[in-house]
Amino acid sequence: MADDALDEATLARLREELVRHRAFLRAEMESQGADPDSDDVAFVDDAGFADRGHSTGQRSQVIAVVRALRSNLSDVERALSKMEAGTYGICERCGQPIAPERLEALPWAVLGIDCKQAEGR
Ligand SMILES: [Zn+2]
Repeated sequence: MADDALDEATLARLREELVRHRAFLRAEMESQGADPDSDDVAFVDDAGFADRGHSTGQRSQVIAVVRALRSNLSDVERALSKMEAGTYGICERCGQPIAPERLEALPWAVLGIDCKQAEGR
């Protein structure tokens, strides 16, 4: 194992953080009326929207929020499965270790900061 690999204690802490964040995201999605296990923005109770007085604009705003939550949720789940596979903290683009400070700030990061910036360009 490389010298700059994350130690067990840090990994355990980041895993806890990911699990907690996953629960938070799922609860948020459910509170928006969305199913966290569905790939589509399908609402548990579609008809309920009209009853709750949502306008079309509010509805599309909710959909945007749910999409962002789902995208974050899939990152979190990806990070957790990487922990299982032992590839956590490795940049998906260049294969270099992601800086520990970055993982502390963003435990579900799958790209190093350099690659992330390159991707955004
Ligand atoms: Zn990279």
